[in-house]
Amino acid sequence: MSSAERIPVAILGATGAVGQTFIRLLNGHPWFRVAEVAASERSAGKSYAEATRWIEGEMPQDVAALTVKACDTAVVSSPVVFSALDAAAAGDLEPAFARAGRVVLSNAKNFRMTADVPLVIPEVNAAHLGLIAAQRTAHGWTGAIVTNANCAATVAAMAMAPLHEKFRLKQVIVTTLQAISGAGYPGVPSLDILGNTIPFIGGEEEEKIEREMQKMLGTLEGSAIVGAPFVVSAHVNRVPVENGHTVCLSMSFETKPTVADAIATIRAWKGDPSSLGLPSSPATALRYRDEADRPQPRRDAMDGKGMTVSVGRLREDPIMQLRMVAMGHNTIRGAAGGSILNAEVLVNSGVISRNARA
Ligand code: NAP
Repeated sequence: MSSAERIPVAILGATGAVGQTFIRLLNGHPWFRVAEVAASERSAGKSYAEATRWIEGEMPQDVAALTVKACDTAVVSSPVVFSALDAAAAGDLEPAFARAGRVVLSNAKNFRMTADVPLVIPEVNAAHLGLIAAQRTAHGWTGAIVTNANCAATVAAMAMAPLHEKFRLKQVIVTTLQAISGAGYPGVPSLDILGNTIPFIGGEEEEKIEREMQKMLGTLEGSAIVGAPFVVSAHVNRVPVENGHTVCLSMSFETKPTVADAIATIRAWKGDPSSLGLPSSPATALRYRDEADRPQPRRDAMDGKGMTVSVGRLREDPIMQLRMVAMGHNTIRGAAGGSILNAEVLVNSGVISRNARA
């Protein structure tokens, strides 16, 4: 598509860590064009360059010159809205945009567990996007809210999806080592995190991990999701890593796989066909690594341009049945990149029209 033919999109919360990742990933995107940026009243009215403490690489010049708007449906007109809003703002703003007919792709926690809102990783549960029809009927809006999960839950759910499909999870114990970029910008004070780990992350991080995976690994039956009936116990830790959440998983299954079967199952998994071949699809969504000391955030977080989840160290567990380590980029696969992939699936399925204009 030429620049004029690309679908105009707005980014709400464009000045934050996830908002900036949207702007980096959408720079040169073949289908979407960043037409509008919006943030809080603190930033509205300034140029994007002036309002934003840019974190990584060069700010795209076309976006730098945009004026930051208020997150108001009267002034933000793009048909597709990527939301990187703080949860405190997302609760009112995201439904307002859906009511105004926009397709909202949200990273906030507010509506993830709402019954008629899809919580989607396209490779895992693209079929859940079928909930949009029920959502539109229930609210009488022509827009939609589609969410992606907590960043650590995303990594864990992707890594376990092939095993759950075949062997049915019963119990999961997950211990996370989460990067500081997961706390947004400016995030965790340097004197709290340098040379340290913090065994707590606010904003109900453990609760989100304990409830979101069952929805994602559940099934769409009629117009409702039936959650997968496994139970999760989560311990979360903030560690001095820039990008990339590591999750250590101990798992038991209805049918116990051998280590070799489990590794072969992960290696053979391609994910839902509707997620393949899109502009943001990685060649390999899930990569099993044989090295004894991988995955590592420094070496593996940018695999597949940040969209591949790496898995390794799959072995017997003396209490549960199996254990393994998974790692994925939190602001790319776990946030902005995941949202963009969701939007690409919606373009292909016609929910977002290729001719949509402001
Ligand atoms: P962040 O760096 O703190 O950015 C928050 C953004 O929200 C900023 O653009 C801020 O604008 C805007 N904002 C705050 N209050 C607002 C208001 N009242 N009205 C309009 N805009 C407002 O946070 P983040 O890490 O990017 O996270 C954004 C969202 O994604 C959060 O819901 C978070 O839980 C979720 N998430 C984050 C990650 C991650 O790895 N970081 C992963 C998955 C999901 P100003 O600059 O004008 O204040």
